[in-house]
Amino acid sequence: MNVLLKGGTIVNANGSQVADLLISGEKIAKIGENLSVEGAEVVDVSGKLLFPGFIDAHTHFDLDVCNTTTADDFYTGGRAALRGGTTMVIDFACPNKGESLQYGLDLWHKKAEGKTACDYGFHMTIDDWNEDIIAELPKMFEQGVSSFKMYMTYPAMMIGDEAMFKALRKLKELGGIVGVHCENAGVIDALIGEKKAAGELSPASHPQCRPAELEAEAVSRLLKMAQLADIPVVIVHLSSGAGLREVETARARGQKVYVETCPHYLLLQDSMYSLPEFEGAKYVCAPPLRKDEDNDILWDGLAEGKIQTIATDHCSFTLAQKDAGREDFTKIPGGMPGVETRGMLLYTYGVVNERISAERMVELLSEAPARLYGVYPRKGCLAEGSDADIVVYDPDGITKISAVNHASAADYAPYEGYEVSGHIAQVWLRGTLSVNEGEILQDRGGQFIPREKGSL
Ligand SMILES: [Zn+2]
Repeated sequence: MNVLLKGGTIVNANGSQVADLLISGEKIAKIGENLSVEGAEVVDVSGKLLFPGFIDAHTHFDLDVCNTTTADDFYTGGRAALRGGTTMVIDFACPNKGESLQYGLDLWHKKAEGKTACDYGFHMTIDDWNEDIIAELPKMFEQGVSSFKMYMTYPAMMIGDEAMFKALRKLKELGGIVGVHCENAGVIDALIGEKKAAGELSPASHPQCRPAELEAEAVSRLLKMAQLADIPVVIVHLSSGAGLREVETARARGQKVYVETCPHYLLLQDSMYSLPEFEGAKYVCAPPLRKDEDNDILWDGLAEGKIQTIATDHCSFTLAQKDAGREDFTKIPGGMPGVETRGMLLYTYGVVNERISAERMVELLSEAPARLYGVYPRKGCLAEGSDADIVVYDPDGITKISAVNHASAADYAPYEGYEVSGHIAQVWLRGTLSVNEGEILQDRGGQFIPREKGSL
């Protein structure tokens, strides 16, 4: 089956061109001017922007956390992703302490297989450290898992500095990459203790217990360990200017550091936690939302190349689930939905507002994550031989974001009422039209994509 997308503007990280794009089967067969192919179905996409399918390298679907399970599983989460132009997610396989990595990987395959609308891969969470886990690491690469995750906060996930350093040494040997959640756990606990003693238990206390200094301290500590282990690392969901300064300090001494941020750290502020009627609970996540100045520093960091990728940290809960913390903010499940709106938000507040170019947006949402996590050039670009994962974006008109019509199982939208420029007209997943004008046409077509070692 051949499909010819005619007359669109094809946007890649390294440039844009008005051209025709021929899809043959699951692949992009040809890109060129005035293509005509006998028997091909022709789709007029003139006036539209064609982006490589977005990759969201930070989602949590079907995760048991905070005494509950995320609202979105791989079915609803995959639908939300695809509807938002994301044709591949990389979720976090997450064994509990005491379980093997293989158990965690098998479990995540079971959660995703046959019910995910977009393609997917897994990072492996290292939340335990012993001889068995060390022996399992090479087997992860053999199974298409080339990236790992570690936490410097959350008792259920932390392994402490000693084990973290040993893990960095081992991953250096194996050639893996690791993303780290950087926040200082001990000081956060002390600050939470102070708030509890004072009886200040509303969501407004949440950001005060997780100030930017504690992100910066953990970033600095991690990067000094990474320097000794001589390994590049990824700072996931960086939220603050203070954290970015520590990254720049490490780069100045010659280290390679990758930074990921999220739309909510670019567009929302910690004043949301003081909204009346427990509204602040909707925005409880870690690290927390920061200040206007942090938003600006991160936007500049995106434009100047200091930040390499934008993911969502999609970790969704319903309002009823958030309600568990009505009397105590520490019991509010942490996380927000985001996988469905990242592309539209970045197009509007990044490209239309002239903070980044369309090409840079493609680099941040598609090409850089594809390279960093080892699926480039199969994904991350519109090129002959690549998977035909294509977002057809209509830049005209205004779309209002609302939970009323989104696909996520969360019953609120953090950006409710926001007006974005244009809309996603179509999403093609490996050559199949899977979303048309917001309607999901195929919602179980996603496949596990084994990944090589990264090369960004
Ligand atoms: Zn996360």
